[in-house]
Amino acid sequence: MRVLLYFPGDGLERWASALAALLPEAEVRAWSADAPAFQADYIAGFRPPPELFDREKHVRAVFNLAAGVETILAVPTLDPSVPIYRLEDAGMAEQMADYASYAVLRWYRDFDAYSELAARGEWKRLKPRRKRDFTVGVLGLGEMGGAVARRIASLGFPVRGWSRTPRASAGVEGFHGTASLAPFLIGSRVVIATLPLTAETRGILDRDAFAQMPQGSYVVNVGRGGLIVERDLLDALDSGRIAGAMLDVFETEPLPPDHWLWRHPRVTVTPHASAVTLRDASLAQVADKIRRCHRGEAVSGRVDRVRGY
Ligand code: NAP
Repeated sequence: MRVLLYFPGDGLERWASALAALLPEAEVRAWSADAPAFQADYIAGFRPPPELFDREKHVRAVFNLAAGVETILAVPTLDPSVPIYRLEDAGMAEQMADYASYAVLRWYRDFDAYSELAARGEWKRLKPRRKRDFTVGVLGLGEMGGAVARRIASLGFPVRGWSRTPRASAGVEGFHGTASLAPFLIGSRVVIATLPLTAETRGILDRDAFAQMPQGSYVVNVGRGGLIVERDLLDALDSGRIAGAMLDVFETEPLPPDHWLWRHPRVTVTPHASAVTLRDASLAQVADKIRRCHRGEAVSGRVDRVRGY
């Protein structure tokens, strides 16, 4: 079997060597724009260039080295009948739960306000909040959102989650479907977006959504930038409806240096770093999936092209 690896940036040869070590029965190669066709059975990687699929005509499956699949689904040269499998957790869910916990505790315990007081040398205790008044809503209850919701619940906060289909989980109040989005938002003091970017979720956090959230609430986006209408967020921050935001993903990445989000005093920007792809865990998962696929066994994490995730 032949496996071709591709992702933009550095380290492709190193990753290909690591994958080859995990799949000794396979011939593994790193993509090169100058090399002739490899006749690959399987493609593993992220953001493949359209010419890859022009050249490789016998691809049996694609293994996306990321949880989000909106970019691979948009590659026009990929035959729609070729199955796509995505990364499932692979060490990312714990990172994302850490990131979300930091955001919730930071706002709940008023650490920003204490920093401002400290900068003025002012010794002043703020009135403590009550956890029961600080409901955290998690948009998406999959690998990422499920881990985030469980972790925040373990910290003692009331937690609710919103998904497309019903998802039962101890300590997490379930909401599902478009009709339940408004009641979900109305009671969420913090909204954490872990949704995939699809035709249904694009722009879901817009002016109307912010208007439904309680005055002085908070937003975390670790899903994809397109989930938030950035201009509407600016208005919601200016009006005080949204008191703060921690954003890891953006409509345009890298976020341009002159973008207002970098400079807004109540916005924290991180560079798509809330949950990074871990080489060893990800390649081990991909190697296992490729082997199963090659043996004709069931493989989890297949992307549904109609749903878009
Ligand atoms: P997942 O396991 O497929 O979970 C997706 C969740 O979103 C599911 O609960 C799903 O509902 C829900 N959902 C999808 N469309 C919906 C809709 N229209 N209405 C309501 N709920 C909807 O995916 P995952 O592994 O958790 O990853 C989620 C996303 O996180 C990825 O797509 C990626 O964009 C992002 N991500 C970001 C980073 C980062 O570093 N920032 C890292 C990893 C992942 P059902 O449960 O009913 O299917």
